[in-house]
Parts: sequence; structure tokens; C-alpha cells
Amino acid sequence: MTPAVLWFRRDLRLDDHPALLSAAADGRQVLGLFVLDPTLLAASGTPRLDFLSSCLRALNAAIGGRLLVVPGRPADVVPAVVRAVEAAEVHLSADYMPYGRRRDQAVLDRLGEVPMVATGSPYAVAPGRVRKSNGTPYAVFTPFFRAWSEHGYRGPAGSGRAVTWVDGSSLGLDSIDLDSVGLVSAAATGSVLPAGGEDAALRTWATFRDGALAGYDTGRNRPDQPGTSRLSPYLKYGCVHPRTLLADLSQQRSAGAATFRSELAWREFYADLVFHRPTSLTTSVYPWVDAMEWDAGQAADDRFVAWQQGRTGYPYIDAAMRQLLAEGWMHNRARMGVASFLIKDLHLPWQRGAAHFMAHLTDGDVASNSMGWQWCAGAGPQAAPFYRVFHPVSQGTKHDPAGDYVRRYVPELRGVAGAAVHTPWELPDGVPSGYPERIIEHATERIEALRRSKSI
Ligand code: FAD
Repeated sequence: MTPAVLWFRRDLRLDDHPALLSAAADGRQVLGLFVLDPTLLAASGTPRLDFLSSCLRALNAAIGGRLLVVPGRPADVVPAVVRAVEAAEVHLSADYMPYGRRRDQAVLDRLGEVPMVATGSPYAVAPGRVRKSNGTPYAVFTPFFRAWSEHGYRGPAGSGRAVTWVDGSSLGLDSIDLDSVGLVSAAATGSVLPAGGEDAALRTWATFRDGALAGYDTGRNRPDQPGTSRLSPYLKYGCVHPRTLLADLSQQRSAGAATFRSELAWREFYADLVFHRPTSLTTSVYPWVDAMEWDAGQAADDRFVAWQQGRTGYPYIDAAMRQLLAEGWMHNRARMGVASFLIKDLHLPWQRGAAHFMAHLTDGDVASNSMGWQWCAGAGPQAAPFYRVFHPVSQGTKHDPAGDYVRRYVPELRGVAGAAVHTPWELPDGVPSGYPERIIEHATERIEALRRSKSI
């Protein structure tokens, strides 16, 4: 029987993988292919590339070193590989984001007679599936969540660990060496990243499920504590499917499990919003937000750099921005705080912050990122209203009451005990040496932000 090609993308796993099972149906041999697409590589900063590299290594090891990793445009690479192995079919998990849809259409156009079969997606319920009774999409989360729950989702698909993998090298197909080409090494990023791959994802989930999950409904608000799953990078690359998590959650009765389920639904809601309105990746759903007066010029750029580097003089904001640089990840509460600060204290458009996040987050996901930023900017129907401005100090004292989060990421303030670390300008000896003075005065900028929003 002629082999099938499984084109891996955001599904770097073997269990609960419907497209893999479909490719291997009737005992068909499968060639596993990953394309290092220059468009996606250019959009990914080093931490995410590093994490991707780790995921690819793990997948390659799991299939006996037979993963074919080829750099190039998918519309060139996929048809060329199909011809080389004389594959009968190409299988994949559907991509619903704007670039992915265009890319897949371009590949399909070049495949000729060879069918491209999409089975499953990175979501429990595919974007576009959940709609109001009149057929229109939901714009607000709560009714979406209700309809998503009523729609339901399948249980996990079986395991693909027994699949017979084609050895591309025996057919003259060479994989790049993941240790040396294209992707960066862990040492090069300077970030401390989690191990990639399916086994690491399942271990991370098991640890969270058997530990912090029960208290997640309150624990998720504390950046100073390990109260969230840290599964987002694994969900980004599909090292675990949300269906696997949801199946486990259905066995749990805690308030934490219920809240965690609704957070997974937020991911699906944002993908659904972008599926119906692709322009929301870069433009505000409420156009008045983009039309507002935003700061520009050298002084604005300097403040942006201070924000990026975690040198605003507001310890909670700086800790969060430095966590992003150190770990390629930031706690959700902190993401909301730093986003509000950029938009409403520095008067910079959310798109600048979103681009910085996409460069540094290992979980950088275009839908969750852009819509998360729009939420903070009050830029759409599901967002927090613009006039709700987070206070950069009280956010800290509320979500990091003892100041441990700040001391972990801001070494200049490690000598300051307790919650006083959130207001170093009030210390008897002033701001500790090496730590910056505040670049703006929050009370003043809050009034300025409200003035600008009212004037439009
Ligand atoms: P947990 O709290 O353990 O949640 C479990 C999973 O639920 C997450 O992994 C994620 O898949 C999903 N989830 C949780 N909260 C949200 C949310 N608010 N929106 C969408 N999905 C959610 N998430 C990304 O995955 N990629 C991004 O690029 C991204 N950018 C963001 C930008 C901003 C400005 C904001 C406010 C939020 C962003 N989020 C993003 C959402 C959220 O911050 C992260 O999903 C979460 O912090 C990941 O950590 P975790 O896996 O420990 O989350």
C-alpha cells in the first residue's frame, strides 16, 4: 500500500491525534513531515523557536528518529515530499487562523490529484461550529460558553504510538539537523524554558491536575504562586489536545476544575472570534480605539523600551516584563496588568504590546494574544471597558501581597521585605540603587487616558 504523509503543524503528539489515526487507517505506513515555514519562523522570537525545537526533538525521538523536518514554503515542500514518496494522501489537523487557511489552500492548489484530508483541529470544538440560533457568531463569552458546552465535544481519540513510520532517508529525503540548523539552542536565548514534547505536556498536566487544580478558581489570581497549569506552550503546539484535558476534567467536581474548563473555552472563544473576523488580529473591533490619540516619537519609544525591559519603576509591572524575558511566559494576571499599563499609562496602542508578546511568548497564539490585548484595551464587545484602568501598585499588592513575585524577578529589590517592595519610592532611604525611578505618574496618566477616550 502506498504511504500517507502526515503534515504535523500545531499537533506535535501521537496520542489523541485524529489526523494521525486517519492517515494510518487500514495499516497504511505514514511519513511524518514538519515544514519549517519561513513566514512562521520570522514571526516567532527565539524563545518560541527554542520551545518548538524542543517539541520537534521529542516527537522525532518518539517516532524512532523518522520525523522529516524540511525548511521551505509549504506550497513547495509538501507537494515535493508527496511526489518523492509517491504518497496517496496528505493528512493534517485543520488550521482556522487566517495565515494557516491561506497556506493550506496554496498547498492544496499545488497537490493536483492527491487528496488533502483534514481531521480534527487544535480545539475541542472547531471555530465556526458554535453559532446562535439565527446562524450568526457569538460576540460575548458567556452565551458562547453555554452554547459551546451544549454543543459538546468528542472524547479523546486513541493512541497513534503503534503507527509504522516511513524512513524518508531511505527514499532520498533529508531532514535538517535540529541541533544545528534553523532553530536556536537553549543557551542562545538566555531564557529558562520548559521541556517540549508530549510526555512533558502530560507530566505537566498530571502534576497540575493532582495538585493545584482543585484550588485553581482562586489560585489562578496569584502570580507569586504556582496556581496555574502552565500548559499554554504545550497547547500552542498541540503536544496535548484540550479534549484530553476536558476528558480528565469531567471526572472532577471541584470549583477549580469548573473554572479551568471555562478558561479552555476562552481559548476556543477567541479562536472563534478571529475565525469570523480575521482583521481583529491587528485592528480593534471598536474602531474608535484605533482612532484615539496615541503617543509617538522618541519619548514614547523610550518609554516603550523601558516597559519591554522591565524598567518602568513600577515593581509589579517590571517583575512581569522580566518574567516574560526570563521564561518566555507571563502569568495571566500580570499580562492584564502590563497591558493596561502600556495602553492607559504609556498611551501606546495595544498592537505594539501584542507584537512584543508574540516575539517572546512560548505560548504566542495569534488569537489569544490579539484578543487578550483587545480585552485590556476595551476594544471590543467582550472587553473590559476602557475606563477600567488597573492601578500598577494595587494590582501588585492584591495579587502579590507579600511581594515575592517582585523579589523573584527584580534583583535590585530583593533587599526590601514584604509588601513595601511595591512602593520603593516610599522607603526611608529612597529607591534602592540600580532600580529606576518611575517613568510616569499613574494618577496623572490615568486622567489623561480617560480624557483621550472621552474626547473621541
Ligand atoms: P491556565 O490558567 O492554566 O489556563 C489553562 C489554559 O486555558 C491556558 O493554557 C490557555 O490555553 C487557556 N486560557 C487561560 N486563560 C485564557 C485567556 N484569558 N484567554 C485565552 N485562553 C486562556 N494565551 C495564549 O495561550 N497565548 C497568547 O499569546 C496569549 N496572550 C495573551 C495576551 C494578553 C494581553 C492576555 C491578557 C492574555 C493572553 N493569553 C494568551 C491568555 C492567558 O494569559 C494564558 O493562556 C495563560 O496565562 C497561560 O498560562 P497557563 O497555561 O498556566 O494558564
